[in-house]
Order: sequence, then structure tokens, then C-alpha cells
Amino acid sequence: MFIKVFSDLYSTFFPRKCINCGKNLDKTEQEVCIKCLIALPETNFLNDSNNPVYQKFWGRVNIEFAISVYYFTKQSVLQHLLHQIKYKGRKELAYVLGKSIGQKLKNSENFKSCDVIVPVPLHPAKEKKRGYNQSEWIAKGISEQIGAPINTKLIQRHLNSKSQTRKSRKERWENVRSAFSIQSKEKTEYKHALLIDDVITTGATLEACAALLIDKLNLKVSIASLAYASD
Ligand SMILES: [Zn+2]
Repeated sequence: MFIKVFSDLYSTFFPRKCINCGKNLDKTEQEVCIKCLIALPETNFLNDSNNPVYQKFWGRVNIEFAISVYYFTKQSVLQHLLHQIKYKGRKELAYVLGKSIGQKLKNSENFKSCDVIVPVPLHPAKEKKRGYNQSEWIAKGISEQIGAPINTKLIQRHLNSKSQTRKSRKERWENVRSAFSIQSKEKTEYKHALLIDDVITTGATLEACAALLIDKLNLKVSIASLAYASD
């Protein structure tokens, strides 16, 4: 009782505000208000197993299912939210958005057999600077909803890498691919990994990670990302 009175008083004097619109959040809302959340442009890729994200990996790596939940566009609310996540320390926002992805995945037959969640590892220097990997926080929200555990140990990202700009397309790809490795080559008990990223653009990092999980660990791989930037 005392705690409830105290927390009500606390939120009266220090209201939590929506990261996007600044409105006071009610008790059911976290980080971003419902109105801003439902205004984000959904892709509805979950209902289309042959969607543009899935097609992106055609002929590159054999993915089971792939989706992004929202469209990424410049100057959008989603860009603002991603900026908060990546550069303003708002990792809880990544978790909240991850929960909303997880709620959708939970209702999809395609993702039911996923038994491990693998966030794409961030470059070690970036993670050190940021203090966290935002994809891991998205994964935490998804894990809470679908029940599969997160494994951040399967794939390792190395310290590389020289500038990509003066390399050929093939060299760039080899550079991305060599940035990742499987930490343990022992057989895992997992069967179907769900790879998580924040934004899909070229898909090169996801392709590299997926290829490793398939080739070295003999897993099936599906992909889910918060946003899709069509190029
Ligand atoms: Zn809002």
C-alpha cells in the first residue's frame, strides 16, 4: 500500500514521458505512448512469407522466414526512436519495441519452432562505447514474449576492419564475412535460430551470421528485424 501511494505520488511529480511526443505515460505504457506506437508504419510482412525482406536473401543464404515489423524512412518517428536507442542510451525503448515484435511473432505459425534467439553482435568497439548492443535489447523483449532463450555466445564478432570504401564488392563481402565466427564448433541442442537486427539495409551482416549458423552449426535460420530500409 505504502509503495503504491509512493509510486503514484512519484509519478505525479516526476511523470514518465513518451520519448517521441512528450505526453505523460500512463501505467500501462513504457517509453513510448500507445498513440505513437500504433502510428509507426507496419509492413505486415508476417502475413506474407515471400515478402521483400525474405526476397532480399534469395540466392544468398537459405533462410526459413524473414520479416521486418516496420518500414524505416528518413525523418520519421521510427528514425527518431532508433536514434534514441543507439545514441541516447535508451536501451529500454529497444526492449519495449522488442516486446511488440514478440507479440506479433507469437501469433505466427512460421516462427513457432524457433528455439534460440541470436542478436547480431555489435562491433566490440561500438558496444564498448554504447554500453550495450541494441539488438540484444530488442531480443530481450522478443524472448519475453515467445519464450525462447537468447544466446549471445554462438556468434563472435571480431575486431576489424579497415574502411570498406575502397574495396570491391567481393572484398567488402569477404570483409563482412570474416568479421564473424562461431565461438564453439560443438553441436548445439538448438534447431532453429531467430537472428535479430535493428534495421535491415543491405542484409550483409545478417547474411554472414546466418551462413555461419547454417554451415557450422547445421541450424535452420529465420530473421526478424525492427525496421526495413528498402534500397
Ligand atoms: Zn507519444
